[in-house]
Formats: sequence, structure tokens, C-alpha cells
Amino acid sequence: MAHCVIVGAGECGTRAAFALREKGFGGEVTLVGSEPHAPYERPPLSKAGLAGGVDPKFIASHETYPAGNIRLLTGVTTISVDAVARTIVLSDGSQLAYDRLLLATGASARNFPNAPESSHIRSLRTHYDAVTLRAILQPGRRLGVIGGGFIGLEVAATARQLGADVVLIEGLERVLKRGVPAEIAHVVAERHRAEGVDLRCGVSIESLTERNGKAVIALSTGEMIEADLALIGIGARPNVELAEATGLVIDNGIAVDDRLRTSIPDIFAAGDCCSFPLALYGGRRVRLESWRNAQQQGMLAAANMLGADEPVSAVPWFWSDQYDMTLQIAGLADGAVMHLRRDLGERAFILFHLDGEGRLIAASGIGPGNAVARDIRLAEMLIAARAHPDPAALTASNVKLKTLLAA
Ligand SMILES: Cc1cc2nc3c(=O)[nH]c(=O)nc-3n(C[C@H](O)[C@H](O)[C@H](O)COP(=O)(O)OP(=O)(O)OC[C@H]3O[C@@H](n4cnc5c(N)ncnc54)[C@H](O)[C@@H]3O)c2cc1C
Repeated sequence: MAHCVIVGAGECGTRAAFALREKGFGGEVTLVGSEPHAPYERPPLSKAGLAGGVDPKFIASHETYPAGNIRLLTGVTTISVDAVARTIVLSDGSQLAYDRLLLATGASARNFPNAPESSHIRSLRTHYDAVTLRAILQPGRRLGVIGGGFIGLEVAATARQLGADVVLIEGLERVLKRGVPAEIAHVVAERHRAEGVDLRCGVSIESLTERNGKAVIALSTGEMIEADLALIGIGARPNVELAEATGLVIDNGIAVDDRLRTSIPDIFAAGDCCSFPLALYGGRRVRLESWRNAQQQGMLAAANMLGADEPVSAVPWFWSDQYDMTLQIAGLADGAVMHLRRDLGERAFILFHLDGEGRLIAASGIGPGNAVARDIRLAEMLIAARAHPDPAALTASNVKLKTLLAA
């Protein structure tokens, strides 16, 4: 095999490129990315990176690519794939032949229906988006956040830290409705209120427009909210257009098997753009939007492109930073029938989520700094081991989770 081509120079594609070399692949590696920058980390865009400065946090230093003999093409989009001829066509008119192709095209921010093109109405996915957003995050300016998901809440926290006024509108009755238990979402919401965020839940938005240099958010209550910028944070959609045009099966993302193989031989997909079966949860097909998943799948895809034939086995894991709090979730909590709480000292706790048979299927925790990190890591190991821990031991803070793992 002579040439591995990776489309999408985000977290996943970049990790895959380096992993090919780490696994000893001696042929050509080409990494093609639409964005003008070398690959950078997205999580800081809503957190410290947004507050801090304008430079992206690069995944690897610029010289690492030539040093690893990785051909990095930036500012170039792959516009078509010919799966029979095994070639791709790039937006600069050039063509590349591949032996193995990895699609790591990621996701894009969802648009608000009928929102006009406006510099006052934005979403946050790229470094460019973050730079635009950063400009209005200052005292005396007002940010309207649409959606109480992770990105909206993280930006709200950063905006408050920078002194901007924030109003956050969530259509459902609480924030973080998708995948986060109510008890944790409550802590998050209360903290935002205490920090001065005007947080409104259960309010729907009639329209989002621009007037006189402001974004105008019309609520179903009749109220009009004016903001210097409205940030749309209503989730992401997988970038599947290229895969669809190639004839790949799409099912909430590019459908892959547990080896990250698509429906066409020698084309793999990984990261935010793909859905895959998770054996740990009965083979249920999921699509994750998480940094660690993008990394792990990039590395796994690289191994399987080289013939390793290894299945996806990692436990889903996600974190979010807001103010001095970190929230972490391991596993998938839906399907849980029992939620047990373990207190970990001041302002920190973990919820263990058990299914009907008493198997630990997820753990979610919140606390200052790293307070929940160690126990979430141990819970992750228990989840991977399909453990049925004693519920009394889970809630007793004096029983070390490590002992349950040994059991
Ligand atoms: C603001 C923000 C904060 C986040 N915070 C967290 C967090 O705290 N914790 C967490 O776990 N996760 C977080 N995430 C999610 C995490 O960053 C993503 O899961 C991860 O970046 C996914 O990596 P990826 O490589 O699959 O996709 P992406 O990062 O989306 O990268 C895909 C790349 O492919 C490029 N591309 C697409 N199509 C083509 C094409 N046809 N040709 C060439 N290039 C193409 C895109 O331009 C993009 O650069 C955050 C995401 C954002 C946006």
C-alpha cells in the first residue's frame, strides 16, 4: 500500500495521520483540510482560548508535519471522491490517488431556521468564529446565547468572566437536557444565575433578525431581546455531503462498522462525522461529538487502515469547563433506571447510572477543578468491565472505587 489520504484536518484526521507513522507506515500520508490554519484544538474556542487570545492552540507544531513526512494541505476542500478509480478531486483542481481513504470531515454548527446572514448572528465552530465572537465580549456589550447546551453555556461563562452581559434562552424546561442528568444541570444553571447570566428556560424563540446593528431575538412571550451578538448554540450536524455524493451509507452521520469501515471498501470514517455500533451498549449505533472520541477513533482508524482489524471499544467520555467547575461524563446514561449519588466533598459529587440489571452504564460528575476526575476515571474502568457494583458501596464516600474494580 502506497498512499493513505485523510480528508479533514481536525482532531481526528490529524491524530490519524500521526498514528499512521507511529504504527510504522512507510508510504505517503496526505492530510487535506478546508480551513486556512494548521490543525488546532476546538475545545479552547469556548473556554480559555476565547478569553485569552487570538491564536489557535495548534494540535502539533508546524515543523512536526514535514518531520513526520506528512503532507498537510490547508485551505483545500475535497470536492469529490471516485471510489472506483480511487481518486479524490480537490478544490484547487488537483487530483490525488489513494489506496486507503479516511473521511474525518467532522461536524458543522446547526443554523437557526430562517436566521439572516449577519455579523451579529453567529455560531461557534472554527477559530474564525471565535475571533469574531471575542470582539464583543467586553463590559457594556450584550451577548444573547440561543441554546443551553455545552457550547452556549461555556461561552456564557467566558463572556461573564470578560464582563459582558449575557442572556441565555433555552427552549426546553432546563439546560443540558441531552445526556446530562437534571441534578447536575441544576447545579450548572444555578451557578450561571449566581454569576449574573439572565438564564431563561422553557421559552421559545419566534424569530431571530438583525436591526440597526443589533441582533433581535423575538420570544414567544412577545418580548424582544436586543444583543450586540446572538450566538446560536443549538448543536451540530455531521458533515456528510461528500460521503453522500460518494454513495456511502449515511445513518446519523457516515455509517461505519465497529472497525470504522464505511460501506465502500478501503474508505474509513471516524470522529464527529460518523455513527458506529457500540458493543458495550448492545451494538447500539451512536454518533459522538467529543474530543477524546475524535482522537481515539483517529488512532483506531489508522490502525485498521493498516490492517489491524481492531474494534471500537472505548467508553464514551466528555468534559466541559464552566467558571471554576468541570463536568465530566463517562458512558451513556440513557437507559438507566437507578441514579446513585456519591458526595466528594465541598461542591463536588458523582452520579452513578445503573441499568435494570444493576450494571453500571454511566457516571456523571461535577465539581471545582479536577475534583471528580479520578473517580470518573475509575467509573469508566468499571463501565468498560461491565461491572455490577454494590449500590451501597457506590454511594459510600469512604469506600474507594478502586476496591470495587478489584472485586
Ligand atoms: C467550541 C467547541 C468546544 C468544544 N468543547 C469540547 C469539550 O469541552 N469537550 C469535548 O469532549 N469536546 C468538545 N468539543 C468537541 C470536539 O472539539 C470535537 O468532537 C472534535 O473537534 C471532533 O473532531 P473531528 O476531527 O472529528 O471534527 P472537526 O474538529 O469538526 O474537524 C473536521 C475538519 O474537517 C474539515 N473538512 C470537512 N469537510 C472537508 C472536506 N470535504 N475537505 C477538506 N476538509 C474538510 C473541516 O473544515 C474541519 O476542519 C468542542 C467543540 C467546539 C466547536
